[in-house]
Amino acid sequence: MTRTLQEVDGLDGTTGGPKNITVIGAGIAGLVVAYELERLGHHVQIIEGSQEIGGRIHTRRFPGDGKTGPFADLGAMRIPAGHRLTMHYIAELGLQKQVREFQTLFSDDAAYLPSSTGYLRVRDAHETLVAEFAAGLPSRDYRENTLLFGAWLDASLRAVAPRDFYSALGGDMGVELLNCIDHIDLAPYRCGTTKNRIDLHAFFADHPQVRSFCPPHLERFLDDVLDETSSTIVRLRDGMDVLPRRLASRIRGQISTGLEVTGIDVRDDAVILRLRQGVGTLTRICDYVVCTIPFTVLRGIQLSGFDQEKLDIIHQTKYWAGTKIAFHCREAFWEKDGISGGASFTGGHVRQTYYPPADGEPALGAVLLASYTIGPDAEALGRMSEAQRNAVVTRELSLMHPELRRPGMVLGVAARAWGSHRWSRGAATVRWGQAAAVREAERREAARPQKGLFFAGEHCSSKPAWIEGAIESAIDAAHEIEWYEPRASRVFAATRPSRSEESA
Ligand SMILES: Cc1cc2nc3c(=O)[nH]c(=O)nc-3n(C[C@H](O)[C@H](O)[C@H](O)COP(=O)(O)OP(=O)(O)OC[C@H]3O[C@@H](n4cnc5c(N)ncnc54)[C@H](O)[C@@H]3O)c2cc1C
Repeated sequence: MTRTLQEVDGLDGTTGGPKNITVIGAGIAGLVVAYELERLGHHVQIIEGSQEIGGRIHTRRFPGDGKTGPFADLGAMRIPAGHRLTMHYIAELGLQKQVREFQTLFSDDAAYLPSSTGYLRVRDAHETLVAEFAAGLPSRDYRENTLLFGAWLDASLRAVAPRDFYSALGGDMGVELLNCIDHIDLAPYRCGTTKNRIDLHAFFADHPQVRSFCPPHLERFLDDVLDETSSTIVRLRDGMDVLPRRLASRIRGQISTGLEVTGIDVRDDAVILRLRQGVGTLTRICDYVVCTIPFTVLRGIQLSGFDQEKLDIIHQTKYWAGTKIAFHCREAFWEKDGISGGASFTGGHVRQTYYPPADGEPALGAVLLASYTIGPDAEALGRMSEAQRNAVVTRELSLMHPELRRPGMVLGVAARAWGSHRWSRGAATVRWGQAAAVREAERREAARPQKGLFFAGEHCSSKPAWIEGAIESAIDAAHEIEWYEPRASRVFAATRPSRSEESA
């Protein structure tokens, strides 16, 4: 069960004395669980396989004349303002002054989206979108605003959902939904400079009952569409990695990077970790362990002492791939094209293109998040060589932005294909398309401890694929360890191995 922060805050002091806890993974879940356990008086150390902290919060800074140039968030880049746990830590860590508005997909009227007649500006797109949407309906007997609503919901779904998921929907928004919408006054939700769009986020916030008219496959994806196209999303001014870096600086226990867990053996009275550091191997015997390794990576690790149900969920949890490709450009050329931020839906392999704020020194250039993909497009881009990938993105994107072909415009490229990245092997857990009860059963199983081995990470949460989920799971795990009472026989077992680290 997910505890509130207040409940965790309410735990003053430890139950049964301080515990020694090893946390695997210095992503946001590992850092939050370590931070909270230390606040509760426990002793914590973190083991991180890669050379970096932050995991899937990864900011890449481009060099420029010896100074740090603009940056690209190649992992998480925005926070819906309603993600209260994430916002809580931002405030608690003194990062509130870093919070800025995040301009999202379609928020800038000059951004583009594709149609059957070519790229359209968001501000000019409504007539074509409505005509294309209406053409797929059994009846056109709807009010103008209902069709506008349907057209923008469809366009948002197409832009946010992986290509195969959108195709499976087959443009089916459900007659019940449109019939229901047709009875609601949508005029207050018309937005954009020419009032040619519908603010879907505001509409569903005011009319939550309408969700029950959505076909199930759409309803289960709706939160992601609304979160990603919401006008109340924020970012951190200096890059998202300031959050894990600030958190790490507040943790007293050691954070060891370059220490890879290669085996986990759960015993009645200890959890034994096999570790690799460079070419050497180590065995560490731990009282308690919190594992935040994504299940995609955990599957490849030698595991013993786990029950079968736990092994099943580790092996069966689905993840989607995600790939981001950022171009360091000589200048923010899109500004001359009238685009001041937000994102275009480019389609093709590129999918989404974001225009991060170019608020640094102009001489150091600007970053274009040329392509953000999930699902099959991310896998396809991830499989390509760097040169091939850059060529594909440049070819597709220059149809919309020919400036990219100017000599010297692209100064550098940074990309991360999370689906094949050694430390994640996936961008995030997929629980779309599942009924709520099935989703919750899977979450519980993913988070269920194995004796002294606890689990956290976005895959163990009710908000997978978000920082919020990783934090939620970390708070739950801290709470469980706090209240975990090992059997006396476990603590004093004569067969217990000594607490040493030995070279194997
Ligand atoms: C492309 C992309 C875009 C995203 N966009 C957003 C967004 O805009 N907003 C948002 O809120 N969320 C977003 N997310 C999701 C968010 O980044 C994740 O949910 C969150 O960062 C996951 O944190 P975690 O601690 O669960 O996992 P991770 O960050 O993956 O942490 C796990 C850690 O374990 C380490 N590890 C792995 N294997 C081993 C091993 N064998 N031994 C030791 N250590 C190991 C890894 O190196 C890593 O540091 C995005 C994710 C991706 C990939």
